[in-house]
Amino acid sequence: TSEPIRLEDRIRDIQDFPQKGVLFKDITPMLQDGPYFRAAIERLAAHYSGADIQAVVGVESRGFIFGAPLAYLLNCGFVPVRKFGKLPAETINIEYALEYGTNIVEVHKDAIKPGQRVLIVDDLLATGGTVEAAIELVEKLGGHIAGVAFLVELSFLKGREHLKDHDVFALIKY
Ligand code: 5GP
Repeated sequence: TSEPIRLEDRIRDIQDFPQKGVLFKDITPMLQDGPYFRAAIERLAAHYSGADIQAVVGVESRGFIFGAPLAYLLNCGFVPVRKFGKLPAETINIEYALEYGTNIVEVHKDAIKPGQRVLIVDDLLATGGTVEAAIELVEKLGGHIAGVAFLVELSFLKGREHLKDHDVFALIKY
């Protein structure tokens, strides 16, 4: 009999990326390993089966990698939240603070319907600023945040506290 898949075995630490002093959690080894990637998506889908998710929102760009197959399994649509200037139709946008400077993300105005039950997905929760921006965009369009899902949560950064009104789930916690 084979061992159960431990997803953390396919996450590697990269020192000083993207800048000195940062320990980056690299998820690409998991993406490269078929059974691991599949297990990650299936575990997320299992967590939300029965949650009546009506749209999955993925945050550019690693949120797309997990959000799209998750939407497929949950039999709902996928909505991209993109960096400023990438979406062709009418959008709403929001600016949020990064460690240095700010970033703007946006979503198509007609991508979420009022009352729609939305699951937000990204690869990793650090301070929570990125996903907080995505939540605000969805709520501005009248969507209901049914859940916020991550592959990895860096618990020591307390990002969850920024998302405290919401149901937050992560497959791996550090
Ligand atoms: P936050 O806004 O929560 O501080 O940062 C999370 C965002 O930055 C996510 O979109 C995530 O992709 C990216 N990010 C920050 N740190 C890491 C890391 O160590 N590993 C990975 N894979 N992404 C990170």
